[in-house]
Amino acid sequence: MSTTIERLLIIQERDRAIARLVRETKDIPARKKLIEDRLKAHQDVLHTAQEDLKKAQAGIKQVEIEVDSRRQKIQRFREQQIQIKKNEEFRALEREIAAVQKEIRAEEDREIEFMEQVEKARAVIAEREADLKKEDARVREDQKVFDRRLEELQAEIAKLQTDRKALAEQVDATWLGRYERILAKTGDYALVPVEHGACGGCHMNLPPHLIHEARKGLSAAQCSYCSRMLYWKP
Ligand SMILES: [Zn+2]
Repeated sequence: MSTTIERLLIIQERDRAIARLVRETKDIPARKKLIEDRLKAHQDVLHTAQEDLKKAQAGIKQVEIEVDSRRQKIQRFREQQIQIKKNEEFRALEREIAAVQKEIRAEEDREIEFMEQVEKARAVIAEREADLKKEDARVREDQKVFDRRLEELQAEIAKLQTDRKALAEQVDATWLGRYERILAKTGDYALVPVEHGACGGCHMNLPPHLIHEARKGLSAAQCSYCSRMLYWKP
């Protein structure tokens, strides 16, 4: 195997490693977002319970106002009754009072419902707040792990790139240029071994003269189907 091919194979190994690490780097923001969404889901549930609590509390206040105004109404009827002499008119007012009292009971039933809602919302809030505290700590820890991994990856990539640059300087520019063009096109390998008479990249059977050229390793034999550079693996 020629020195050039040997060096290109090492460069290819570095390029593959860099590509793998870059892919992992690019995945990190999406993975971070996923755990942020998890936290947000918890916050949303808590927020909904808080809104429910506010609504139920406002409902209780409203009921109290309604009951109060009806009690005043009854009070006015009672005052009118004192002035009244006719039995018939007195009874008519009694019926009015009974109707208003019925309304008050309905309001009080609503108040009980609101009170139950308040209790329920408070329980959900307490539970969710405890959950959120735990979840928040977990998310922070996970985010830190991702941030540390990102730093590691960036350092590793930088190291590999420096290494690759030094290696590339030792390879003939024409060969390197060809290697890089093919790699950009295929996205995986630019340099592949001949395997059982076939191209190690696209697996098509190679004509004998290409196998011969690859075996000698003197010129840059390229697969006639996928253009990858071929080398002979002893
Ligand atoms: Zn091929």
